[in-house]
Amino acid sequence: MKFNTKTIHAGQKAEETSGAVMPPIFQTSTYVQEAPNVNKGYDYGRVGNPTRTALEKMVAGLEEADECACYASGCAAIDAMLKMLKPGDHVIASNDLYGGTYRLFTQVFEPYGIKFSFVDMTDISNVEAAKKGQTRLIWIETPTNPLLNIVDIKIVTDFARNEGILTAVDNTFASPYLQQPLKLGADAVIHSMTKYLGGHSDIIGGAICSSNKEIMENARFQVKTTGGIPGPMECYLTLRGIKTLSVRMERACNNAKEIADYLVTNDKVGQVRYPGLKSHPQYEIASKQMNDFGAMVSFSLKDDSIEKAHTFMKNTHYFALAESLGGVESLISHPASMTHASIPKDVREKSGLKDSLIRLSVGIEDAEDLINDLDEAFSHV
Ligand SMILES: *Cc1c(COP(=O)(O)O)cnc(C)c1O
Repeated sequence: MKFNTKTIHAGQKAEETSGAVMPPIFQTSTYVQEAPNVNKGYDYGRVGNPTRTALEKMVAGLEEADECACYASGCAAIDAMLKMLKPGDHVIASNDLYGGTYRLFTQVFEPYGIKFSFVDMTDISNVEAAKKGQTRLIWIETPTNPLLNIVDIKIVTDFARNEGILTAVDNTFASPYLQQPLKLGADAVIHSMTKYLGGHSDIIGGAICSSNKEIMENARFQVKTTGGIPGPMECYLTLRGIKTLSVRMERACNNAKEIADYLVTNDKVGQVRYPGLKSHPQYEIASKQMNDFGAMVSFSLKDDSIEKAHTFMKNTHYFALAESLGGVESLISHPASMTHASIPKDVREKSGLKDSLIRLSVGIEDAEDLINDLDEAFSHV
């Protein structure tokens, strides 16, 4: 089955009692048993739910994983994944991680005795230098937020496999439409389904996908034991969102490309970060490991200041000022005063994150309207 077909059919079958084409929302906390422990595969709603199972089979199919476990949020999935580690274990992670992941690693897991090194993974020698005897996991994020750097997944997973270290890729920014990390050698894929998979800014959800027994045993154990599960309604909506993943991504990627090309020619723009531009430092890697270049575009203003960025954002109409990404509607955000405000200015600037950097999550509107919207906003700065 090819990818677009999978978004409709992977793991799906008509419901048995009625023939319903769509998976019903099984809004139940428990299941009748014929005798103690004799049941139809479900005993209690924390442990399993048929609507959730339909979603898990779908997401496993998209990532070409044997299994998937779904959680109440991307952060709950990351939390569950990290709980396979023991005090003293060491993790190497990308240095420009999603802020919530960084907070979870440093403020929850570090106090419990897990050690972390944060390195620039665009250069494999940094990963090699950070490796210790206790390194158990390498945590990769690509493309990164908000600078859209690209990490060569295959180079990092080749290194890790030789060293007996597990690898996990947070595939939220790319979605399985753009890249499938397990095929590039990763042991696990993590998703915030809140973004492209859900695709309509109406659910929060997360997932772990893997064909590695140890990883999935822990993932299921955490579902059952710590209980950060998504409700059946969320599972249904996520599954519904996934059915249009391919068409949404295709349109959004094309829009993003047109917007990046427009920004490059605008004389009020400083730098444009988009993996599909030949000027992007990892353009070659992106061309090799991704099916397209994504729908996130970041740019700075020539007149680099927080105030100018705020004025610009106040003057867009279709691009709504909001956190998050991956929905059908276009969003605009300002990392220096929103997601990355807690990072000191000098540390921010060292990684290339300028005061005026603006991040766009490009939606599926008409590109012409989106470009006109940006053009209008530029006339105010
Ligand atoms: C949003 C996001 C998360 C966290 O997911 P939630 O569903 O908000 O908990 C993790 N990683 C990345 C890359 C994200 O964008």
